[in-house]
Amino acid sequence: MSIVSKKELRTSIASRLSQHLELETLDEKPYIETLGDRLASSGVSRRSFMKYCMGLSAMMAIPVSLMPKLVEAALLSPLTSVVYLSFQECTGCLESLVNVFPNTQFKTDSIENILLTALSLDYSETLMAPSGTQAEKSRADAIAKKNYILVVDGAMPDDKGGAGFFIQSGKTGLQLLKAAATNAAVVVSVGTCASFGGLPAAKGPNGKSPTGAISIKAALTSFGGTYATKKVINVSGCPPIAEVIAGTLVYWILNKKAPELDSILRPKMFYGETVHEECYRKEFFEHGQFVESFDDAGARRGFCLFNMGCKGPITHNACTTLKWNQGTGFPMEAGHGCLGCSEPGFWDKEAISGQGVGFYKPLDINTIDD
Ligand code: SF4
Ligand code: SF4
Repeated sequence: MSIVSKKELRTSIASRLSQHLELETLDEKPYIETLGDRLASSGVSRRSFMKYCMGLSAMMAIPVSLMPKLVEAALLSPLTSVVYLSFQECTGCLESLVNVFPNTQFKTDSIENILLTALSLDYSETLMAPSGTQAEKSRADAIAKKNYILVVDGAMPDDKGGAGFFIQSGKTGLQLLKAAATNAAVVVSVGTCASFGGLPAAKGPNGKSPTGAISIKAALTSFGGTYATKKVINVSGCPPIAEVIAGTLVYWILNKKAPELDSILRPKMFYGETVHEECYRKEFFEHGQFVESFDDAGARRGFCLFNMGCKGPITHNACTTLKWNQGTGFPMEAGHGCLGCSEPGFWDKEAISGQGVGFYKPLDINTIDD
């Protein structure tokens, strides 16, 4: 073993130090949080995220063999920015979504919830802490970053030449939508109001909506140019099922493109079938066994609710497959027919069983106990 003298050692250290000092300093790149980072810090393993995506693959019509690569790509991607705008709405859609969140972030095993919380929600009037000019700045900053998902709930009112029904910070709804849609990668219309006009588009006494409400797609089309061709996904429902909203966003995060849509722009994976097709009362429908009044013997035996105005046979939604409230049930299980909430014009649409225009056959006053 060779012995190194103190002098040699000092010379060697001095030389290494000078080499280090001559090295170029590394660029200080800003840290960009990825989806993988966020899930890891939330205690969600890569394995459980993969398992969740594999479970969705059949519904999303993605070959299982492709899923691992898509998941890896998604985990390495920066968090997807979301700008959330609200127009003529009741906040029920956002309520549906946040009600499935845990009270304390991430203390849940539902990955839909974690994913939604793990999105970078850069602007939402209802959920964000800043207000006033700070909030306006947040929206402008998010729009400047580009390629965000623009989520919109609520129908768009006619701006009546600039003095319309929706004014925020001196701008009409149409102006706000146009500015926010400019740099959006995709527009997701959440709820039947944003998708088709919904309640605000219901006919008033003169046969017209008092606010001239139109869907977000119709508003974008009215702008023309690239706005008219902007990719729009309608996630209808009054409100939509939280997992349907989440599944649509997850599909975009994984694929950077929209899922296959039906003729009115709804993801076929969730709206491909009517609620009637999977309803457990369908056997009674096929045997002509119907409830005729909410308190009759047929109601007690669980007969079909078609004659009570159920619109299940013409309503496309995932209520009977995904169910509601973390998969615990759906309206027909609770004894009430489908109102057709995910279809265009549902407020004004006539029940197919002939009870006239409106929601459902009302309860007879005599059936209500004192
Ligand atoms: S209750 Fe409605 S959805 Fe269910 S079988 Fe009858 S008509 Fe169809
Ligand atoms: S059952 Fe019909 S009305 Fe009820 S949530 Fe589903 S689609 Fe809407």
